This record gives sequence, C-alpha cells and structure tokens, in this order.
Amino acid sequence: MDNNLHIETLLANTPSVDGSGIAPVTGAIYQTSSFINNGKTPYSYTRCDNPTRSALEEKMRVLDGGVRAFAFASGLAAVTACFSLLQSGDEVVISNDIYGGTYRLLEQIFGHFGIRFLLTDMSSLAEVEANLSERTKMVYFETPTNPMLRVADIRRIAALAKRAGAITVVDNTFLTPYFQRPLALGADIALYSATKFLCGHHDTSAGLLVTSDVSLADRLALISRTEGAALSPFDAFLIQRGMKTLALRMEKHQQNARAVAAFLKDHPSVAEVFWPGDEDSPDYALSCSQSTGFGGMLSFALKTREQALSLLENVKLIKFAESLGGTESLITYPLTQTHASTPAPLREKLGITDRLVRLSVGIEQENDIIGDLFVALRA
Ligand SMILES: *Cc1c(COP(=O)(O)O)cnc(C)c1O
Repeated sequence: MDNNLHIETLLANTPSVDGSGIAPVTGAIYQTSSFINNGKTPYSYTRCDNPTRSALEEKMRVLDGGVRAFAFASGLAAVTACFSLLQSGDEVVISNDIYGGTYRLLEQIFGHFGIRFLLTDMSSLAEVEANLSERTKMVYFETPTNPMLRVADIRRIAALAKRAGAITVVDNTFLTPYFQRPLALGADIALYSATKFLCGHHDTSAGLLVTSDVSLADRLALISRTEGAALSPFDAFLIQRGMKTLALRMEKHQQNARAVAAFLKDHPSVAEVFWPGDEDSPDYALSCSQSTGFGGMLSFALKTREQALSLLENVKLIKFAESLGGTESLITYPLTQTHASTPAPLREKLGITDRLVRLSVGIEQENDIIGDLFVALRA
C-alpha cells in the first residue's frame, strides 16, 4: 500500500499477502501448518512464516515506520523474544513502573540466565544515565506507564542509550501507533501487547514487535522461528480485523477518558487522578511533545481503602476484570491483580497503594460510564 496515506486510511484497509491471484477485499486466513514446496511460494511452514501473519506484520511495519515486524502469540511472547537478544552478563535498564508480567519474566526466568536488570525511574534522566554502563545492552520502558500513567522522554532516553551502546525498546501498548510512534523518536524496537487496543475487542491474545534496525530484524527473525511463539493465522486475522477501527476507537477511548477524568477530579471521594491528558498533569507537556494523543487509560486514588473496595464491588456497567483496551470499560485493582508480583516497597514508592484503581475507559456513551462510577462511589 501507499505509505504516504494517512494512518486512518492505512488502518481501514487490509492488504492481503497471498500471491494466489485471488483478490479478497479483506485478508484471507491461511489455516495451514505447511505449504507445498513448489518453488513458487516463499512459505514453507507456519511456525516460520504464514501469509495471514505476514499481512499483519507488514501492516504494523508500515504503521510504525520500521524495517520489519513480528507477530507473537501474546505480548509476553514478544517481550520474551526481545529479552532473547541478550546474553548472560548483560544488563537491562528497565522502568520501575513496568507491567507486572514483564517484571516477573525478568525476575523469575531471565534473571536465572545471568541477565541483570536495574529498576529505574525513567522520568529522571539523571537516574537513567547513572544506571547505564558498558554492560547495558538494552533500555526498556513503557510510556505512559502502567498503572501510574507516568510519561518518559523517548527521544532523550533513546539518545542516552545509544551513546552507551544499548538499544531502546518501548512498550507502546497504551498509545498504539495511532497516538505514538517510538521508532520515529529514536527507539530501536516498538513492542505491543496486541491483546489490548490493537485487538480492541477482548477476544484474543497477541504481541507485536517492530524494529527500525536491519540487523536486529535478522536476529529477531531467528528468535521468532526458533522459539516457536509466533501468532496463529486465525488470531492474526482477528488482530487485523480489530485494527481496522483502531483510529475511531482510540479517539473515542480518549474522549471518554477526558470526561471521566474531569468527573473524578471533582469528586469528594477521589484523592488524585492520573491521566497525562489532564493539563494539570506533570507529564502533559512532555506527552504533547512526543505523542498525538493521551489514550484511554487512567488511574485514580480514592481517599480510603474502603472506598476503593466498595467502588470495585458496586460498579455494574464497568466490569471488574484484568486487561484493557477493549470496547468495554474495565476496572482493576493493581495491588492484588496486575501488580501483585511487584515488590511491596517498590509498589509503595510508585504509589500503587490499597487506594488505587485503574480504569480502561471503553467506548460506551460517556454519561453511562460516569453514571456507573457516580452510583458506585455513593454506595
Ligand atoms: C498486557 C500487557 C503486556 C503483556 O501482554 P499479554 O498479551 O498479556 O501477554 C505487556 N505490556 C503491557 C503494557 C501490557 O498492558
């Protein structure tokens, strides 16, 4: 497709990579594990390559402006592929406000292979710089972060990492290429849990990596083929189907998050609201400098633990469930759900208290979401 088209247009159209001469308007599902070696097709075995997966990868490559993209069976499979670039003795400078599963993967699996990680406050460039050494091979962070919605300066951190000889990986799950393109800001790899906004419908799991570097692409291709966690054809189809409406959904998620944040800020039971699109947020200016939007994720602290627990119990429309980024609004309690494996002292430092709840604002009518919160907060 013409890469000069606007992102809404690229998203709405699904090019089919098949070479069969059949020309479906939307991508076909090649539900096969193997291909006949007739010398006419580049495909041989689905673990290594599959046309349905290739179509999704090509779409993501274009959206993120990379040289190559890879699709995996989950976000954590994509994170695993990334960490598989490392060797024993290497160090990772990693955000201290990171997805709980990513932390667990480093701590419980890669840590045992001699990979060290330095938990770092990515909003402090001085701390990033202090933690970089000649052993640092990767700088890894999310922005905005989960669950505190803090924003890290992609341009400046990527420049510091480059100077230290390390690659930069940005988990762009919360904003997607629709609102933020990390490779254009200097990152080497953009990573996604496609389970979330890219899929958008809470109906499957997937992960994506896009790289701007040819030699990293070659190494990731080997890792993907060899570790065997590549995305299945059917799920690649579902992610592409979801992505057709990504632009519409992201705009609506954001519009609703803005309304919900304004409601919560004025509510007497709410102590603090964390959403980078709030002009009073300490990260508002930085967000505007590197993203075209703020997304639909927000967290807030109630005044007491009892108020938080009562809210979780009393919401009706908003579902008390893990995950995020789908059409339905979901509420979670990071302390015991997504961030249960984060060490307690770190949780306290970050603000992940027993009063904090995280909201993935869906695409319902905003007054229905606010009404549900209003009633649940009164209970
Ligand atoms: C969910 C999530 C992941 C992990 O993705 P899975 O698809 O659940 O494996 C990684 N990073 C972030 C920011 C996430 O929200």
